[in-house]
Amino acid sequence: MPQDWDWSCLTGKVVLPGNPSYNSDRTNYNTRFTRAPSALVFCQNVEDVQNAVKCVRARGIPFRVRSGRHSYEELSLMDEGLIIDISSLTAATIDPATDTARVGAGLSQQAMWNLLGETQKYAFPLGTMGGVGIAGVLQGGGIGMITRAFGLAIDQVLSIQMVTASGDVVEANATSNTDLFWALRGGGGGNFGIVTAFTLQLVRIPKLAIYALSWPASRFPSVMSYWQHHAPTLRDRRLTSQLTFSSDGSLHSEGVYLGDPEELRELLLPWLASCPPPHPIRIESLSWFMSTVYFNSFDNQCDHPFKTTGAFVYQPLPDAALASIQKAITSAPPRVSCDIWMQSFGGAMADVPSSATAFSHRQARFILELGGTWQDPNDMDAGQNAVQWTRALRTTLREYTEGSYVNFADLDLGSRSSGNFDYLGMYYGDNVARLRTIKSTWDPSNLFHFEQSIPPQAPTRARLTVSG
Ligand SMILES: Cc1cc2nc3c(=O)[nH]c(=O)nc-3n(C[C@H](O)[C@H](O)[C@H](O)COP(=O)(O)OP(=O)(O)OC[C@H]3O[C@@H](n4cnc5c(N)ncnc54)[C@H](O)[C@@H]3O)c2cc1C
Repeated sequence: MPQDWDWSCLTGKVVLPGNPSYNSDRTNYNTRFTRAPSALVFCQNVEDVQNAVKCVRARGIPFRVRSGRHSYEELSLMDEGLIIDISSLTAATIDPATDTARVGAGLSQQAMWNLLGETQKYAFPLGTMGGVGIAGVLQGGGIGMITRAFGLAIDQVLSIQMVTASGDVVEANATSNTDLFWALRGGGGGNFGIVTAFTLQLVRIPKLAIYALSWPASRFPSVMSYWQHHAPTLRDRRLTSQLTFSSDGSLHSEGVYLGDPEELRELLLPWLASCPPPHPIRIESLSWFMSTVYFNSFDNQCDHPFKTTGAFVYQPLPDAALASIQKAITSAPPRVSCDIWMQSFGGAMADVPSSATAFSHRQARFILELGGTWQDPNDMDAGQNAVQWTRALRTTLREYTEGSYVNFADLDLGSRSSGNFDYLGMYYGDNVARLRTIKSTWDPSNLFHFEQSIPPQAPTRARLTVSG
């Protein structure tokens, strides 16, 4: 029986079932799930966020926090509770004196690119899809096509404004609330409070070139073998690259180079000699803004159902693993598009110690993501097959990989309700204990909890078991 909550404690735009926009307002990017929240509040300012926190706290209302709606497992949605949506917090100012920006946490990556693109001067190392919210990206780490040059997105975050579990507004940075600042950079969204603004160190990119290469699917073992040995260890950290192998038979790689096209071509020559592509290589100069447009086009922009998981790779995958990937990709289930995507690490992100922020997987060679998408959310067979396919390949690759990226959330790694807390070690590695201590300081009553949240530190007597 749904609870009949009193919403008079909320300020901002409140949407209830029956409201004409309710269905679109409750829909996230991954349409694999349909959730029916009791209400959504679209906060228009920080005070609305404070009121929402005080409201759920005082009345014991279950809730989730949402920004860009791109959580893989819809961790920003729930049935029968309140969705605190901060996507309207989009105020942004740039300070040319310090090359910094103060931005509302509700901005999407596209809005950030537009803001910086207009200046024709600044860039920022975010991810590659426009619709994704910066709130989620920046709390989990933030990987993208200039990561080897500038590090993770969190490495350029100077200060974070957050509404705490008691409804106060705090600022966390290198001098104030330093433990919280550490945790909010890699600890993942929704664990410590509601982030409402970021101060970011902007970067400048004088020259940029991209490349695009493709091969027949049969060349996967040799192409992948070369890429995984060389792309992450390239001394020239100005190049970040990705490699994608899909069940439609495509095998392609793209990269961003912060330099001239001619230098980029030189850099690629050994790979081209080792794995000659049948088609001419595309290399061209682009502005940073146009490179975001280019890479954004690789993503399916429409909401659709999918199951995806990720893992970090610390040592090159052996031939047996490459053979397993090839077999899986070439035997995708009917009506399911399956992919494996990889992005090179190393460079600037590996310069930062793994304990310097909550993101612990900085020494990985590369990250991989695999999964299946299908077109019709009502096609149960396709959905089940996509989930099975993803689980099976992840299980096969488990012995060759380590951990998982908190921003590629996968409920198969464990959840509070199942009592399996393996996800903590997978996401945070050696940083789990410190994250739990900080959680105990900032949210001792565990107000901010969800299926894969960080539990507060267990009381001393019960330290042997993890409790949510
Ligand atoms: C198509 C696609 C492409 C992607 N590409 C990249 C990429 O290139 N690089 C990369 O690093 N990641 C990428 N991701 C992963 C992405 O970083 C995560 O899914 C991220 O969590 C999404 O954030 P969001 O705000 O859009 O999502 P939401 O679903 O709104 O939120 C995600 C999580 O953060 C919490 N949260 C949201 N807002 C707040 C807030 N203000 N305060 C506290 N907690 C909050 C939510 O409760 C939830 O747990 C991609 C995801 C998708 C679906």
